[in-house]
This record gives sequence, C-alpha cells and structure tokens, in this order.
Amino acid sequence: MTSTHAELTKRHRAVLPDWLTLYYDQPIDLARGEGRHVWDAEGNRYLDFFGGILTTLTAHALPEVTAAVREQAGRVLHTSTLYLNRPMIELAERIAELSGINDPRVFFTTSGTEANDTALLLATAHRRSNQVLALRNSYHGRSFSALAVTGNRGWSPTSLSPVQTAFVHGTRRRGTPLADLPDERFAEACVADLEDVLGQLHGNVACLIAEPIQGVGGSSVVPDGLLARFKEVLDRHGILWISDEVQTGWGRTGEHFWGWQAHAGSGPPDVVTFAKGLGNGLSIGGVVARAEVMNSVGTNSISTFGGSPITAAGALANLDHLLRHNLQGNAARVGAVLRRQLEGAPDRAPAVVDVRGKGLMIGIELAHPDGTPAPDLATEVLEETRRGGVLIGRGGLDGNVLRIAPPLSLTEDEAHEGAAVVLAALEGVGRR
Ligand code: PMP
Repeated sequence: MTSTHAELTKRHRAVLPDWLTLYYDQPIDLARGEGRHVWDAEGNRYLDFFGGILTTLTAHALPEVTAAVREQAGRVLHTSTLYLNRPMIELAERIAELSGINDPRVFFTTSGTEANDTALLLATAHRRSNQVLALRNSYHGRSFSALAVTGNRGWSPTSLSPVQTAFVHGTRRRGTPLADLPDERFAEACVADLEDVLGQLHGNVACLIAEPIQGVGGSSVVPDGLLARFKEVLDRHGILWISDEVQTGWGRTGEHFWGWQAHAGSGPPDVVTFAKGLGNGLSIGGVVARAEVMNSVGTNSISTFGGSPITAAGALANLDHLLRHNLQGNAARVGAVLRRQLEGAPDRAPAVVDVRGKGLMIGIELAHPDGTPAPDLATEVLEETRRGGVLIGRGGLDGNVLRIAPPLSLTEDEAHEGAAVVLAALEGVGRR
C-alpha cells in the first residue's frame, strides 16, 4: 500500500503502541542509505550522526553485508541451533578471540535486551542468587529483567522485578553531590558506595552489570579505571562483573575495542554482552562469558533466531570490514576531530553545560540559565539540525542530552560538516 507521509504517520499511530514515540514533529520515513548518509522518501538527504541509533556500525548499505546476506538467503534458510551452523560457528570464534575473556564461550541472541537477560540468567544461576548490582542512571533494555537493572525507574512501566537490584554510583550526574568531585575523589566515593551497599545486603550477590559509557543515560562516562577498582571489591566476594557493551563495543570508543578495556587493571569481565552495531541493521546480539559461567545453566538453552545463518553471515561480513579498515582507529582519529569542534560549543551556546564521551560516542548536555535541565531546548536543536540535514539523538535522565554516534567510517570532512550544523543549531537556541 503506498501512502503519503501524513497517511503513513497516521497509520503508525493507529496500529502501534502510544509509547512507541517518534522523533521529530514530522517523523522521518527513511527510504535508503549509503555510507554515512540516508535519504527520506521525499528525497531529502541527511548526514547520519546517530547511526540509526548506533545500529549502523560501519556504513549504510555496506556492499559486503548486502552480498553476504543475499548469498546466505539464496542457500540455507534454517534458523535453528539444532544443526551445525557454519556462519554462527565462525562468528563465535571471531568474537571469542576478540573478547579478551579467559576460556570464552559465545551465545547469540536477537537483541541487546535478550543478551542482558541471558547474562543475568547465567550470573544468577552461577551464583545461586537473584541479588544483583547495577549503576544508577543505567539502561540495559526493556524486558522484565533488563528493566529491573535499569537505573532510571522512570523508564520502567513496572515496579515488579524478577531480581533484587541495588544501585550504586558510577557516573557523574550534574547537580548531585558527587558530580563536582575530581576523578580520584569521585572514584573513592563510588567504591565506598559499593562497599556500603554490599555491607547492607544479606548474603550472596550474583553480579554487577554496568555500561562503560551510559548511552541512553546521556553518554555519561564511567571514569577510567573505576570498574577495575570495583572488580577488586567484587572479586573479594566472588561477585561476577557483566560489561554491557551494546553501545560501547566494536571500537566505538576509539581507544579500545571494548569499553571495559579502559578498566582492565584487574582483568577482564566475566561476561560481556553485545548487540546493535554488529549486524549493521540485522537483529543480532549475544553474550560472551567464561565457560564456567556460560555453562552454569544445565538445560538446553535454545534460541530459534539467535545467530541464524543470515544474521551471522551479515555480521561476519560487517566485522571483517570493521577490522580490515581499522574503523576503531578511525573512531579515535575522527572522533577527536569532532570532539574538538564540539568542545567549542559552551563558548558559543550558553545552554551547553557539558560535552563528553569518547571516540564516536559523544553527549552534549543542555541546561537553562538557572541550571535546570533543558529537554525543551534539546527538542529545538533536534528539529533544527534535521532542517540542516543532520540526524542526531537525545538521551539522559531528563532528555536534555544530545547524543552523537555516527557510523564508525565517518570522514573528517563529514565530521566538520556535521559539527557545523550542530553548533549553529546550539547557538540558535542559546541566544533566544
Ligand atoms: N544495553 C544498552 C547499553 C543499550 O543501549 C540498549 C539499547 N539502547 C540495550 C541494552 C537494549 O538493546 P536492544 O534495544 O537491542 O534490546
């Protein structure tokens, strides 16, 4: 059925849930993409500074991925873990090798949420405890257990929970007492918080789940090394560390392949979860864990679609491309260029109170002159950048953080082009 834009928006609203919110007054109807650009159905071209919310890891319509998917779709289509699956085995081998985890085993899912669900299942089974720890301001997905470890209760439609979660400090939040402490004192306060929380909990704690940079939480960075200090405490109690790399994996932070590597002082996590970018748009996520942890669930854990031949073949081609072209190096180099440009924002736009992030994962926080969060200004900037031909995202507890996370193949020229549009939009709202 062909529809005009207005009809399509109406059909979306009539048949999909009210809470499936759309960006922009006039929602975008994407028709195609190429490289770092996308086009809507009316033919408008946009520079994609949000990578389809981080799912386009390398580049839009990457020919290698398209070819791999097409080739696999023309051969075997079975989607079961009951038979040998060559693309899945090969992908698992590659990820195991890249994981940095000792004696790794890999299990594939179809999303990040499901990956975190699986990680929680493994950790709680392994430790025979449903008491878990998570960071404040975290986001781990929207299933029943992923929501239970998501720090912003405002994002959860339920107060019921399959696990008991205690939240600890790990990132700064503007306007809170710990926010202005220098790094070392902040880290000490967070470790003290963790020790305090552990002291108050009775008995066994299964795990700590943490994002090295909180994406949905507004690109809030856990200060380097802090999770290693947490790990020293966790190790004393035998508590497992799950690193949620759904946003920070695959080289996005530039400096490392995984976000946890900025916290590697005390060794790797026990479990890493991943998703989003690996499939470049295909639904694939997964868990890589120490064999001892992975194998702590005794039953057949079968996912019909996890690691299906089509998604695994596409993901393999994407991963190959990423490694062959050293896109992690590109994220570091072009990310630094972009960051330098955007760091000029507070001088030009009074609403900007912080520019943060790593590599190609950047957050710009907005506040009103009285210091209160400015989600209204974030909305204006979102609309204005769109008019300027650049797509960005938003996040943060108050929806007042603009998020930038382009495909990792972003060029320097594109970084300059996009930054100019973002800066002009920020300047516009700051002056009124
Ligand atoms: N973990 C993190 C850190 C995420 O950012 C997200 C998605 N925004 C998820 C988990 C959930 O992933 P998915 O949407 O694929 O279920």
